[in-house]
Amino acid sequence: MSEKKGGYYDSSAGDTNFRRKWDRAEYEQRAKDRERGILDKDDQRKRKGGKPKESDEPPSSERELLKAREEAIDLTSNLNKTVVVQASNIASRQPGYYCEVCDCVVKDSVNYLDHINGRSHQRNMGMSMRVERSTVDQVRARLEALKRKVNEPELDFDARIERAQKEDEEEKRARKREKKERKKKRKEEAPPEVAATDDIDIASMMGFGGFGTSKK
Ligand SMILES: [Zn+2]
Repeated sequence: MSEKKGGYYDSSAGDTNFRRKWDRAEYEQRAKDRERGILDKDDQRKRKGGKPKESDEPPSSERELLKAREEAIDLTSNLNKTVVVQASNIASRQPGYYCEVCDCVVKDSVNYLDHINGRSHQRNMGMSMRVERSTVDQVRARLEALKRKVNEPELDFDARIERAQKEDEEEKRARKREKKERKKKRKEEAPPEVAATDDIDIASMMGFGGFGTSKK
């Protein structure tokens, strides 16, 4: 048999012409832009032929850098409690962890943590996912602080218990105070009780002083 050139199994570059070719220069530029944060999600969507998401939020390059959370996360306040839940379309009334910033409900604590650390939540908080690059001095200061913390004498068990109890009591007192204030507020807002004039009218009609209600 004679050798055939360009046979069925003969693979040459010409056979793959139908394949999509990547413009290396363009994609390199695009990757660089993305790294520098010039390209936002909307731009990427537009390039893919999609519509830009309608929002008046600034692109991520104009948003604040990511900051550490300062408030404590409360995951356990409803632990072991029974709560009556009504069918509702309003997110804040649904069972689960409610995020006020995004007005959404997450069903468990793990996903709630994922949510509040996630991109869309941070965007709603006005932050991008970019982190400030620490300087050498900042790192040094941090290490120093940690060293000092290690060298601090540790409290013994009893002292720690005492401190925890104190904190607990303080929290309880604060809660009580809050409750009292709420009650007071509600009382002030409620209209004064209407005197039972009907009773008096009927009573005088029937010829006696009154039914003797407990209302005064
Ligand atoms: Zn959120």
